[in-house]
Amino acid sequence: MKDFRSDTFTQPSEEMRKAMYSAETGDDVYGEDKTANKLQRMAEEITGKEESLIVSSGCMGNLIPLMIKGGRGMEVLCAEEAHIVRHEIGAVSSLAGTLPLPIASDNGILAPEAVEKNIHGYAYDMSQTAIIETENTTSGLIYPIETLKSIKKIAEKHNLWVHLDGARIFNASVEAGVSVKEYASTSDDITFCLSKGLGCPAFSILSSTKEFIKEARRLRKLLGGGMRQIGIFAAAGIYALENNIARLKEDHQHRAAISEALSMTGWADLKISATNMIFFTSKYPMQNIIEAFRKRGVLFLEDGGMGRIVTSLNVTDEDTDETVRIIKEIDETEFKS
Ligand SMILES: *Cc1c(COP(=O)(O)O)cnc(C)c1O
Repeated sequence: MKDFRSDTFTQPSEEMRKAMYSAETGDDVYGEDKTANKLQRMAEEITGKEESLIVSSGCMGNLIPLMIKGGRGMEVLCAEEAHIVRHEIGAVSSLAGTLPLPIASDNGILAPEAVEKNIHGYAYDMSQTAIIETENTTSGLIYPIETLKSIKKIAEKHNLWVHLDGARIFNASVEAGVSVKEYASTSDDITFCLSKGLGCPAFSILSSTKEFIKEARRLRKLLGGGMRQIGIFAAAGIYALENNIARLKEDHQHRAAISEALSMTGWADLKISATNMIFFTSKYPMQNIIEAFRKRGVLFLEDGGMGRIVTSLNVTDEDTDETVRIIKEIDETEFKS
């Protein structure tokens, strides 16, 4: 099977598993897991932040900052498409008690003017903006660094916290040639996923100031995310940061080849094609298209009525060539029923 469903389906490689097998471990709740500590120090180097904390998932990496800086009567200003609004079971409100203020954006990329216009300052009868959230990449699209810098300036002017959901920040970094450190400098905290394109079985990282991470550590425990001998997973993270970042470019090349083939068909209308993601619509029912490709061993999903193709280390050069050939050869009459 050629698996384009998500970069979350990536499998730990043999080399990664070997690193996991031989990892030194300890009780991380007591801060004694040397491998976890090493991974956290590496994340600090990469993000340029004072301190880092391993969290069980990207959702937890988004939730903790909302709990620390948001809360009752407070708002997080974000794009309508934001993952915290669309894909996190409403934890922003149900667990963090924060009111999401999703505003219109360009496919998830906020305009600084729109951000400033929607900030709510103190008023006795209104919710108040506490956090601005950016997401990079967002549906595969890269936030222009200048836009992020402008948003950070606005946040500073209004004394607001900026949370960066950098689940796929490394895809943005290798493609745009902007360091993760520079992206992270436009936010007060950043979270990134190890379990997506980087190919680890689990975990995300949350990085910020010492004071912030001290509180984040408490909340991680509160949420049931205080784990013990996590060095086994942290070793996968170290392996990924050392070996799997530069290769993300290959995923982007595979995406480009597939999107070129799709653009030449009469049945796929490309909406987004960037980094490792393609979103397209069609005059035919998307489920019919998905089924026709599934029969040929090509898997992808529907997301918001669109076909969504995600490239990752699951997909080889040969898989890409084969998929391009299938796209070119498939008879669209098959999509009708
Ligand atoms: C996947 C993802 C998350 C959440 O990560 P999980 O590890 O699945 O909880 C958060 N934000 C974005 C943008 C994501 O793509």
